[in-house]
Amino acid sequence: MRLILLGPPGAGKGTQAQRLVQKHGIVQLSTGDMLRAAVAAETPIGLKAKDIMASGALVPDEVVVGIIADRIEEPDATNGFILDGFPRTVPQAEALDDLLKQKRLKLDAVIELRVNESALLERVETRVAQMRERGEAVRADDTPEVLSNRLASYRAQTEPLVHYYSDKRKLITIDGMMSIEEVTEAINKVLAALAEADSAKEAKKDAKASAKRASVRKTSAKAKKAPAKAAKAAKKTARKAAKATAKKVAKKAKKAAKSAKKTVKAVAKGRKKLAAKAKSRAAAPKKGKSVSKGRKVAKKAAKKRVKAAKRLTKRR
Ligand code: AMP
Repeated sequence: MRLILLGPPGAGKGTQAQRLVQKHGIVQLSTGDMLRAAVAAETPIGLKAKDIMASGALVPDEVVVGIIADRIEEPDATNGFILDGFPRTVPQAEALDDLLKQKRLKLDAVIELRVNESALLERVETRVAQMRERGEAVRADDTPEVLSNRLASYRAQTEPLVHYYSDKRKLITIDGMMSIEEVTEAINKVLAALAEADSAKEAKKDAKASAKRASVRKTSAKAKKAPAKAAKAAKKTARKAAKATAKKVAKKAKKAAKSAKKTVKAVAKGRKKLAAKAKSRAAAPKKGKSVSKGRKVAKKAAKKRVKAAKRLTKRR
């Protein structure tokens, strides 16, 4: 898990970061602590940062970005980290984005602890007074005067990060004026919801990926079967065409047979008709012939009578 704790000095970032370290087994990376260690060790960075820190102003971006770039490379940070006090400016946030991108790491959330400035001043005053009472050393920048400067730096340079991360949908705002316990509880709740949403997203992604794999398998199996399928389809088409042609031919033949039958029938009918005609003609008396024959017989008889008459006359 990679988190950023955002909030003005005295909002309780350090306290909540320690609780998150215990709960999630990740490291707390506090640029303030690292710079104080560098100041104590009088390293070149420490010497450069010492006076700036004491005034409540911000150390140059390139110095803190360099420190963080080296620190997140260390093995204990591979499991995750909580950035406490970094980034504090928009250029630092952009540099962090680049760093995470290069390492292909994802920022899970930015938790903003929102507090009331005047309440903060009261808190610091009380804490400083208690530490002094106990005889403990008070940080040079923990006085109410320096705190005013640090709050002014926060407003001017760090508060724009609220919009920066809100635009990136990474910001989670928690009321830092609640008790330490309540703030811890609220942070834990939010992180649990985030983890749940993340695992649901992962599950969805996995399901999508396996569905895609299954569809690729199906497509390739289909592609393998395609030639056989095409051949089958072609065979079917050919069979269909042959069937259609045979049907057509049979229909034509049937039609031809029908028409031939009709012709034969017509011829037979014609013949029958002719035969009947011939028969009836043969059975009927030949009118024309008998008349002429009758005439001929009559003529012959008349001729015979004339001849007999003539003979008679001759005899007389
Ligand atoms: P902190 O303990 O986080 O309040 O930091 C103490 C001081 O260290 C700040 O007032 C700054 O002067 C310096 N500092 C810590 N972190 C940063 C940062 N990210 N950018 C610039 N200065 C920082």
